Amino acid sequence: MHFETLAIRLQTERSQHREHSTPIFPTSSFVFDDAEQMRALFADEQEGNIYSRFTNPGVREFEEKMAALEGTEDAFATATGMAAVYASFMAFLDAGDHILCSRAVFGSTLTVAGQFLLRWGIEATFIDPRDPDSWQSLVRPNTRMLFLETPTNPGLDIVDLAAAGAFCAQHNLLLNVDNCFATPYLQQPARFGTHLITHSATKFIDGQGRVMGGVVCGSKELIAEVRKFCRSTGPSLSPFNAWVLSKSLETLAVRMDRHCENAEKLALLLEKHPQVERVTYPFLESHPDHAIARRQMKKGGGLVAFEIRGGVEAGRKFLNNLTLCSLSANLGDTRTIVTHPASTTHARISPEARAAAGITNGMIRISVGLEHVDDVWEDIQKCLSV
Ligand SMILES: *Cc1c(COP(=O)(O)O)cnc(C)c1O
Repeated sequence: MHFETLAIRLQTERSQHREHSTPIFPTSSFVFDDAEQMRALFADEQEGNIYSRFTNPGVREFEEKMAALEGTEDAFATATGMAAVYASFMAFLDAGDHILCSRAVFGSTLTVAGQFLLRWGIEATFIDPRDPDSWQSLVRPNTRMLFLETPTNPGLDIVDLAAAGAFCAQHNLLLNVDNCFATPYLQQPARFGTHLITHSATKFIDGQGRVMGGVVCGSKELIAEVRKFCRSTGPSLSPFNAWVLSKSLETLAVRMDRHCENAEKLALLLEKHPQVERVTYPFLESHPDHAIARRQMKKGGGLVAFEIRGGVEAGRKFLNNLTLCSLSANLGDTRTIVTHPASTTHARISPEARAAAGITNGMIRISVGLEHVDDVWEDIQKCLSV
């Protein structure tokens, strides 16, 4: 079946009430018919729900949908995107291991990889995600994993997934890709040899700025390790959030189509504006990685970055004059959100690390929403011309 159909029709079995839409299962535990069933479930001899930290029917529905949409065998859902990223590290890495991590990843991921992993004796080397040739000399005998995001946050560079897949196959590394910006509708990293796909479901998967969630997708064998780690450490997704997220997946394809359509229109308009120095959008001819983007993505995504003429001061003025677009830390919402990475999401990392991640002082990132694009442009254009 096709993506859209799977996102809608993969559903937990109906109860005796014959409900059409999946209900919420807010229960911390499940009852057993008898002592034998209880024993068999705890012994993993039989599949079934025991306790919602391990499994819950609504959470399972979300996991099964995500695995189907990513084209992987299995998935494990978590309370936040960072819990998914963290679990995808801790389920596989031991003290003394080394990882390669793109230097253009989500701010909290940089903190986990660069600071917290070190406390458990796991070292990360930060790499230039756009230069696969430079990765070769950084592999050590104890290197276990390559972690990256594409499109990158917030610079919207494209990392060549086929090159990363080939590199990891050659060096026997786990390839771990945060697919949050593209969603499986636009890009399926598993097709390029990615072993672990992580998501912040808080973003486009929810798509309406309501709940937090995350998920790790991969083979049955790898997800069994993630599940084992999470079952005991407890970053499980709540039944309510799982219900919201599973419902959200039903509209992911149509929402992403419109996000991309609006984003592309805005990018073209911004490119022609005299106050704009440079526009970054993966499907613009002017994007340096345009050819790779066309190869691995269905459309260009819902984010646009641009450089305003006049540096930091012009950027601040621009943000302060917006009336429709929101100043918010989220992305992938129905509402258009404008951020200034240098002073917000990436403010805690050093100026050198910011520059290495491609973040300039005048960079503005727009998560283009689902409002009428003419209204969004009206707001932006008015502030550019002040
Ligand atoms: C937001 C985000 C995360 C973290 O997700 P949370 O749900 O906020 O924990 C990880 N990666 C990317 C690319 C993100 O945008």
